[in-house]
Amino acid sequence: MENKNVYIFKIPFLSISKKEFLNLITERVRNDKKTYIVTANAEIAIYAKDNSDYYNTIKKADYILPDGIGIVKGAKILNQYVEERIPGIELMENLLEIADRNNQSVYFYGAKPEIIQDLIYKIKKDYNNINISGYSHGYNNDSDNEVTNEIISLRPDYIFVAKGCPLQDEWIEKVLPKVDKGIFMGVGGSFDVLSGNVERAPKIWRKLNLEWFYRISTDSKRLKRSIALPRFIIEVLKEKLLK
Ligand code: UDP
Repeated sequence: MENKNVYIFKIPFLSISKKEFLNLITERVRNDKKTYIVTANAEIAIYAKDNSDYYNTIKKADYILPDGIGIVKGAKILNQYVEERIPGIELMENLLEIADRNNQSVYFYGAKPEIIQDLIYKIKKDYNNINISGYSHGYNNDSDNEVTNEIISLRPDYIFVAKGCPLQDEWIEKVLPKVDKGIFMGVGGSFDVLSGNVERAPKIWRKLNLEWFYRISTDSKRLKRSIALPRFIIEVLKEKLLK
């Protein structure tokens, strides 16, 4: 099927299967093509709608992917079709597998100091052939510049940034013009999960597309932010009426 963009709040979401997308990225890594990937859920879409600076930042991405059932449903309300929901954390895991198979290099930036240590331990254990170019936790004010300089000199194949939205995207936006290669991807709370410190929703919840509900019901910080979900639906309905 032809890949095309689906628009919600003027954000272009790529409608593509995960398999096809992985092939596309594999090719881009092979050709050293600098790439910026955003995986956006309903909460991020609403944030971009409310904050034009953030919208302009993610518009610079080469690919914006639909991370979450909200985007798929929202597109449907607007009579558009999204091929597949592509959760950021799964995409990151798939890219790590590809990096491992091809002896590629990865840089990890973000999360709390103890989390990044656990993550690096797990990566070394689970992916023998990944070349870890470097890593840094996300709570040192000076690290943005330090990490930028490291990335420029080390030229990793993949750079995963786990500082949450909008910090991770603001940093990627600043770094991109200074580098000549690398797959840059903001991965939110994925380091917390992949390091084994936070659990993803059990499989059955994910299958039922209820991971979002599991997350807000088990994390009080998320409960407060969950107001974005009903707002997302209301704003999509408004967009439909104005069409
Ligand atoms: N984080 C960070 N530096 C900061 C703020 C947050 O490294 O200054 C990390 C935080 O520890 C967490 C990640 O950013 O691992 C994402 O946080 P959150 O779950 O809030 O983001 P989301 O997945 O909702 O984008």
